[in-house]
Amino acid sequence: MKIIVLGSGLLGVTTAYELAKRGYEVTVIDRQPESGAETSYANGGQLSYSHAEPWANPSVLSKLPQWMFRDDAPLVFKPRADWPMIKWGVSFLRNCTSTRANINCVNILRLGMYSKRKMEELVKDTSLSFDYSTKGVLHIFGSEADFSHAKKHNEFQQKFGCDEKVLTREEVLAIEPALAYTKRTIIGGMHAHMDASGDAHMYCNALAKLCTEKYGVKFEYGVSIRRLRTEGQNITAVVTSKGEMTADMYVMSLGSYSPLLLDPIGIKLPIYPMKGYSITIEANDFCPSVSLTDGTHKIVYSRLGNRLRVAGTAEFAGHDSTINEKRIEPIVRAAKELFPGAHWSQDIKKWACLRPSTPDGPPIMGISTYLNLFLNTGHGTLGWTQAAGSAAVVADVIEGRTPEIMMQGMTMERYL
Ligand SMILES: Cc1cc2nc3c(=O)[nH]c(=O)nc-3n(C[C@H](O)[C@H](O)[C@H](O)COP(=O)(O)OP(=O)(O)OC[C@H]3O[C@@H](n4cnc5c(N)ncnc54)[C@H](O)[C@@H]3O)c2cc1C
Repeated sequence: MKIIVLGSGLLGVTTAYELAKRGYEVTVIDRQPESGAETSYANGGQLSYSHAEPWANPSVLSKLPQWMFRDDAPLVFKPRADWPMIKWGVSFLRNCTSTRANINCVNILRLGMYSKRKMEELVKDTSLSFDYSTKGVLHIFGSEADFSHAKKHNEFQQKFGCDEKVLTREEVLAIEPALAYTKRTIIGGMHAHMDASGDAHMYCNALAKLCTEKYGVKFEYGVSIRRLRTEGQNITAVVTSKGEMTADMYVMSLGSYSPLLLDPIGIKLPIYPMKGYSITIEANDFCPSVSLTDGTHKIVYSRLGNRLRVAGTAEFAGHDSTINEKRIEPIVRAAKELFPGAHWSQDIKKWACLRPSTPDGPPIMGISTYLNLFLNTGHGTLGWTQAAGSAAVVADVIEGRTPEIMMQGMTMERYL
């Protein structure tokens, strides 16, 4: 049975791996010259299985009005004449009630915990090298309001098997001594010890190589997908810059570009690009060795081998992935304050890309309205975290097996 996977980012490559392992003949198509070259290239690096609170939650509502007018806000939502963005924004606001946020959180957590298990299996089975670290993620707080919100949220998540340890300032410094030199106030923290981190781009390429060498997966790089050809309730071909390509089944993993291919065939998915930024520097002894989340500034830090990655911000700017210096600057400033001893005079590598975000938070997986088209897209801020679990779920659906976790709240049905 032949399957074409559209897109070779985290979701496409991991899905190709799951399917090839199960005996399918897999081809992956991507416009880039290698895997993981767009949104999966330089993300925050966190496998934050315990981080399940969706962006759409009641606490964001009170912050939105101030954020809308600040260039250095964690989320920039400037009103503009963009109908998909307006529709997405209205749906985002509707999901900010505590009931909806709790339901979405439980769905995200279920996928997160499953992804942890599947990722650990994958690492064990493949021995891939991608600067993987299992020291967990340390969340730090500078304001009492943010810290108590996180503690309350932790109590909620504990009911569903997710356990984070609440820490005093001294305990935070014991886990990450590099924080001792900070210019900022740290009042306490939480240690998400179930979490991990690693380099998503290295992972994508190492996994693609393994897929080719071990399972004969074909990667068609440098090929642009123009449209999907349909007949009745079936996809009959993918029209590309290299001509038409056909298979028995197709998987959509084009990230933020998925709606551009799905819209013309009548599938309307509320995936909007949420632009984010990262910087990468060569690390020294004054850089953290544990992955960190600065809950007050919504910025994440990951030590990837001898590099430090710092990532954050969310901006709604359509499909424009160019770097806006005004948005990078707050990340650099926050990182310099937190780790003043890092080697800041070096050439900082900057990057911007588009998170394929749904308004409620969970991704969109499983069957579409076409019999042979499956979805594995819309993973927003958690695509690295959820890649292994999502790939296994979608491969199960394709195989006709019941996935190991309930897919409630993670399929396109919720938008019909
Ligand atoms: C700043 C930032 C920090 C982040 N930090 C984290 C983190 O710490 N932890 C975490 O879990 N997640 C994080 N994420 C989110 C995560 O990176 C994304 O969810 C994930 O990369 C999405 O993967 P994807 O495979 O769906 O999309 P992509 O990686 O974008 O893959 C889609 C692929 O489709 C290809 N493509 C698109 N259109 C076409 C076309 N027409 N023809 C051919 N090919 C096409 C692209 O080239 C691309 O390779 C972060 C994201 C950003 C932006």
